[in-house]
Amino acid sequence: AKKGGKNRYYWFEPQMESELRFRSELENGIRRGVGNGEFVPFYEPQVCLQTGRITGFEMLARWQSPELGLVGPDLFIPIAEEIGVIADLSESVIRQALQDAKEWHPELGLSVNISPVQMRDPWFAQKLLKMLVEANFPPSRLEIEITESCLHENLGLVRSLIASLKNQGIRISLDDFGTGYSSLAQLRSLPFDRIKIDRSFISTLASNSDSMTIVQAIASLGSGLGLPITAEGVEEPEVVDELRKMGEFKAQGYLYGRPAAAQDVEKRLAELGLL
Ligand code: C2E
Ligand code: CA
Ligand code: CA
Ligand code: CA
Repeated sequence: AKKGGKNRYYWFEPQMESELRFRSELENGIRRGVGNGEFVPFYEPQVCLQTGRITGFEMLARWQSPELGLVGPDLFIPIAEEIGVIADLSESVIRQALQDAKEWHPELGLSVNISPVQMRDPWFAQKLLKMLVEANFPPSRLEIEITESCLHENLGLVRSLIASLKNQGIRISLDDFGTGYSSLAQLRSLPFDRIKIDRSFISTLASNSDSMTIVQAIASLGSGLGLPITAEGVEEPEVVDELRKMGEFKAQGYLYGRPAAAQDVEKRLAELGLL
């Protein structure tokens, strides 16, 4: 039992106490891991549905934790944001990704995800450009993915950030499109280069007629606004057939390849003559 406040006692359930301990160990592990270079980039192929060719990769961070093994971002990104290490973590994986992707075919793009916390940093654009210069990586090969949650931030700040990135030739895509509530207004007010339809609509495309209607609507929105579209989470050939009927898309998903480490990606690229 712990003593709280004045004469108040409350008891932690044993389970709650162990959850708290797990949480604080996670925090320490993440802090340490950033310093030790335990965060690494994985890559998921992006494919042009018309040609079937790989056009680039999305970098997805992984944590090689000595205690936990390979950990996905849904666990560590929110914590890294909370404890203030997301910028260092992101910088570390982006630097590695630039080094990796630099060795690939020069037409292959690299997409990276950016946290709303980083969007709030007035120096973010400068930091990113410095990384590109140091890695000698052409900005035109880089695409920044931002989610709608980034746009609930100070819109003026986001706007000028996007403008300075685009000025350097970096492309900006709106990630997880369709899951936030104010997507349409933002499409009009910010100069995105691409929208990525959220996996929840794509994975159910062949089986759910509502998903079909929504994806069709997004496709016509995209072509009307001149915005290329990526479909995320393509797992089945049936989904590809449906997408092909609707227009031009890029696609990502387990059908084309799961996120993999650089060495595995490079094996595949070598076979395709893209190294
Ligand atoms: P996201 O950007 O929407 O990335 C797509 C997620 O869907 C990835 O999960 C990917 O592995 C998964 N996925 C892709 N294709 C399929 C499929 O066909 N089926 C299924 N079931 N899943 C698929 P992951 O790697 O766990 O990443 C989760 C989220 O973490 C990402 O969502 C992104 O928002 C965030 N994230 C990843 N890396 C970073 C990073 O370096 N910085 C920041 N700020 N966020 C990151
Ligand atoms: Ca993404
Ligand atoms: Ca997404
Ligand atoms: Ca997502």
